[in-house]
Amino acid sequence: MAESPLLDPPPSLCDLAADGPLALFLDFDGTLVEIAATPDGIAVPDRLGDRLFALAGRLEGRLALVSGRAIPDLERHLGPLRVARAGSHGAARERADGSLLGALAEALPQAAIDGLRNFAAAHGFALEEKQHGAALHYRARPELEPHGVRFAEDLARSHALEVKRGKSVIELVRPGASKAGAVRAFLQEPPFAGARPVFIGDDITDEDGFAAAAEAGGFGILVGDRRPTAARYQLADPAAVHDWLGLQGGNFPGGVSLVQ
Ligand SMILES: [Mg+2]
Repeated sequence: MAESPLLDPPPSLCDLAADGPLALFLDFDGTLVEIAATPDGIAVPDRLGDRLFALAGRLEGRLALVSGRAIPDLERHLGPLRVARAGSHGAARERADGSLLGALAEALPQAAIDGLRNFAAAHGFALEEKQHGAALHYRARPELEPHGVRFAEDLARSHALEVKRGKSVIELVRPGASKAGAVRAFLQEPPFAGARPVFIGDDITDEDGFAAAAEAGGFGILVGDRRPTAARYQLADPAAVHDWLGLQGGNFPGGVSLVQ
């Protein structure tokens, strides 16, 4: 089978910002940091939280992290966040000042968590319990995937939950949590309202974010290579994302303003 051609790299951030107000929505794992063997194994670039805060300042606050991780978990790796953020696949949303945007999703039913815990222990998955969900990880043992997917889908049906698939991870969440929902919620109000959204992400769950950005007049940027995708542009890896965002190099902490 022929390889699908790469998408073009996006125009520069400065060029895009010159066309009008721009809003950035950034996934975390696989986008701002390289994926590691375990969720806690990631190597976070030095002062990444400060660098994101500085970039948000250049965009008048129109930058949000949108991750599958819970917000407290993001803060464990980045320090106290001073940018807008959505965690747990969009189920929890906070403005840059820490105030809640919309209602907070409930945690999973205890019976579902117990079922996942027993299954994980019996079959060799690593279980990650989150604030608004729970995930089975199998990066070290890819052959476990079909069994894990079947179990998660059955469990989701019996508890009215939803399965989210990612790279070597199967997660159960409450219905309705999505990165698209987070993008739409932020775009409803200042400072995001009226801006052109750009969503950057690497995984299947980011496709919702790409679609929501496109429906609001923006676009998605896929990190790495995966098909099919609703993204319009592509960057190779987290290092290329940092480069495109201007997060690295000698111009930290400010850089020039992206606002005309
Ligand atoms: Mg990701």
